[in-house]
Amino acid sequence: MQTEISEKIPLHCRQKVYRPDTGQFLLSMIAGSEQAADLSTPPNCGGYGRIHHFRRRVDTGWMDDPLPIDPACKALGLSYVDMLETQVFQLAVCNLHCWYCFVPNILKCAQAETSQWFTAEEMIDTFLKEKNHTCIIDLSGGNPELVPEWIIQTMKTLDKKGVSEKIYLWSDDTLTTDYTFQFLSKEDLNYFKNYRNYGKVCCFKGFDSSSFSFNSGLPENMFYKQFEHFHRYLELGLDLYGYVTITAEDYSEIDGRIGEFVDKLQTIHPLLPLRVVPLKIFPFSPTSTRTTEKHMRAIEQQSLAAVAWKKQLHSRFSTEQLETKISDINLHS
Ligand code: SF4
Repeated sequence: MQTEISEKIPLHCRQKVYRPDTGQFLLSMIAGSEQAADLSTPPNCGGYGRIHHFRRRVDTGWMDDPLPIDPACKALGLSYVDMLETQVFQLAVCNLHCWYCFVPNILKCAQAETSQWFTAEEMIDTFLKEKNHTCIIDLSGGNPELVPEWIIQTMKTLDKKGVSEKIYLWSDDTLTTDYTFQFLSKEDLNYFKNYRNYGKVCCFKGFDSSSFSFNSGLPENMFYKQFEHFHRYLELGLDLYGYVTITAEDYSEIDGRIGEFVDKLQTIHPLLPLRVVPLKIFPFSPTSTRTTEKHMRAIEQQSLAAVAWKKQLHSRFSTEQLETKISDINLHS
């Protein structure tokens, strides 16, 4: 049963949103969805894209979130800012079931009536046609990791159209599969690694096996796989960042549990915790039907884990290291 959840379901999801023969990807129609109610600007790109405002300041008392602001500003040679507009496209499927997810379930199960097939070229054409388009594209979902071809084809299209020097590409990853290595050729892996304006953010869906399972709806043993997958991406040479969701059903012995998570990150690279940002969970319209009392409690008490995270980082790193820009933390030495 666990093998089925960890192996067959992601493959099944992948097959529903990718046509290898035509190079088409199934993207969500955001216009008219429940998600659109939470947007500050109306969906664009014919209803299949949205603008997201990434903000450095998350909330009072919470850690700043410099992603993808600092990596993008560094790559494009822009001044560092506190807010950046990004063009988001969403792959229409996900193999996880995060209760706090702001994407409605209907946009994560490859429904024909809420999605459309696009080649990477068609997607980029709709983006370039937008007046004053952003200089960052975020390939999101759903789970874009299920179809790494989407990322490679987008890179190749940006190169082909001569805009890859001016556009920064960012993609999300849930660390639940090794599809990048399973489905991309050696040539594509090289292309991936050498593409200049790209950053990948991998989301650890919990700080231990029980918070992972609570947050993602996946079996606890998959928690450990996340570290293996992250390590492989790092070995490939990508510019890699992390998020960690620190909500849990219970926060007992939180200092020690967060400490063990930070230990695990440091077995991959001693500086890795400095490239990982704890995500604050907020309620959104689509989450109202999924949240129960235990989820609301997890939201209310997530600051306990945030305090433990800060303590761990302050005990392991110098002030200078803690103040270094996330994009200047070097994981490749
Ligand atoms: S991985 Fe992302 S898209 Fe999928 S359910 Fe979780 S938060 Fe939503």
